[in-house]
Amino acid sequence: MTRSITILGATGSVGTSTLDLLRREPGEWRVEALTANCSAKELAALAREFDARLAVVGDEECLSELRAALEGSGIEAAGGQRALCEAAARPVDITMAAIVGCAGLAPVMAAIEQGGTIALANKEALVSAGEVMTTAVEKHGATLLPVDSEHNAIFQCLHGNDVAEVRWITLTASGGPLRTCSAEELARVTPEQAVAHPNWSMGAKISVDSATMMNKGLELIEAHHLFPVGLDRIRIVIHPQSVIHSMVEYRDGSTLAQLGPPDMRVPIASCLAWPRRMETPCAPLDLPAIGELSFFAPDEVRFPATRLAREAAEAGGAAPAVLNAANEIAVAAFLKGHLPFTRIALVVETVLNESNLPPAPENLEDVLALDAATRRRAAALLETT
Ligand code: NDP
Repeated sequence: MTRSITILGATGSVGTSTLDLLRREPGEWRVEALTANCSAKELAALAREFDARLAVVGDEECLSELRAALEGSGIEAAGGQRALCEAAARPVDITMAAIVGCAGLAPVMAAIEQGGTIALANKEALVSAGEVMTTAVEKHGATLLPVDSEHNAIFQCLHGNDVAEVRWITLTASGGPLRTCSAEELARVTPEQAVAHPNWSMGAKISVDSATMMNKGLELIEAHHLFPVGLDRIRIVIHPQSVIHSMVEYRDGSTLAQLGPPDMRVPIASCLAWPRRMETPCAPLDLPAIGELSFFAPDEVRFPATRLAREAAEAGGAAPAVLNAANEIAVAAFLKGHLPFTRIALVVETVLNESNLPPAPENLEDVLALDAATRRRAAALLETT
């Protein structure tokens, strides 16, 4: 039976990996909507290839380019934030939420309000909205399937078990491309070095987050919302080979782990086919070739981001959204060459400490207002230092 899908962030790393899987199942999928920010030509090409009904650019200024590229195709084109939400609200069997950053939050919430099934890659949306999102999921009877490889691993390891029996959830982290750098070397890291991840091919923002370890910090908060075992039962371990994607230890001493190649098509396929399985083109795991799996404790002196994220999660309320927004601004400044690598976490910590944190956001508008205010604060801080 044909299934319908909308992909938010179709031109990105997760979006194109998702489309790669759909391409391998001709006739099984009907694409409702594909979205991007401003990659109009790429989006139009994908919309034509997959015969999408609708293509949307988040940046309205790119709509004329999208319209021109879609001319004669019969595919509807739209632009702007409201159009993104309208696209996300169209009923489909599954929505792939793969916009990067808090920019993806409003569309994700629109999909949740339809009570749909959402494969969630956009971790910043859940980190920023927290209980606002989980409450909406419950209220509207939506289903969140975690795309992040770690959370997808945990989701699989929890299947058929009771969270009350969990002793530990262990999030594995590759440690990123700078894992072995000294503090002095970290201060001189360039954007090119930071995005050169040893195991995963990903978008620029998450690649920098992996290098600073903020990615793992965001994932800690994400896991806290997805798997309610208590923050003190979620820990992080460095595992440079990225073969074990995460583990769940139960109170009887059994640890279940999910293993796989470092290829996002595996967790994406797990979500697309859930609760069944589908073929992927990924090579089987060759354990003798891998040889050894190693594990280390994280170093929160050289990489303070996981500490900041844990503190923000413990503080709760507005803190995770502030952490995320300040990080987005700092990472963008680093990628433009305006901020040294080691200042990213410093900016986040300063904004967190300086902010007279408002009360916990109660709805989407509160979260978006908090996000916008924090971005202004972080941008002002960058200008004055
Ligand atoms: P990319 O940067 O590769 O792609 C981002 C997508 O979002 C693009 O389609 C981009 O459009 C669109 N986009 C960017 N900004 C906006 C905006 N303001 N409004 C609307 N659309 C926007 O990111 P990734 O695919 O790497 O990551 C996507 C999400 O998935 C992130 O939250 C990331 O943390 C998460 N994730 C990614 C993994 C990976 O392997 N890449 C692994 C696990 C999670 P355009 O092309 O026009 O810029």
